[in-house]
Amino acid sequence: MAYDPDNIFAKILRGEIPATSVYEDAQTLAFMDIMPRADGHVLVIPKTPCRNLLDASPDQLAAVMATAQRVARAVMQAFDAGGVTVQQFNETAGGQEVFHLHLHVLPRHDGVALRAPGQMGDMEVIAGHAERIRAALAG
Ligand code: 5GP
Repeated sequence: MAYDPDNIFAKILRGEIPATSVYEDAQTLAFMDIMPRADGHVLVIPKTPCRNLLDASPDQLAAVMATAQRVARAVMQAFDAGGVTVQQFNETAGGQEVFHLHLHVLPRHDGVALRAPGQMGDMEVIAGHAERIRAALAG
């Protein structure tokens, strides 16, 4: 399957639609999911195009995983989490909806289930969560 340069995350990378970012480096961007399945749900993407795990280069995978680790440590601190779930879906049959490689980083607490997918979050609340993650990253 070919990469579609008009997918939502490509538009975020080009600045055509807004995102609440928490971290970026030369190769990756991390920003808040607008339909968070847990408080502090972050998406990590490469800045270069690829659909998912199936067509990504080793360099793209290494870069997004390194950033996911950085973000995972930050959300542990920011949300006093007991653990972190990292999810990554590939193609429609694999549960993928946006076809630009991304890792979901989800802070977790014992006994607290993930929220159902597809529920829009409150953008003010998400902005506050992003601020906590940025502070943890800076500290
Ligand atoms: P997946 O492709 O792994 O199933 O999930 C795509 C994720 O992107 C979902 O968690 C969804 O909430 C998130 N998402 C979809 N559209 C947008 C958007 O415009 N901005 C942001 N920040 N997240 C989005």
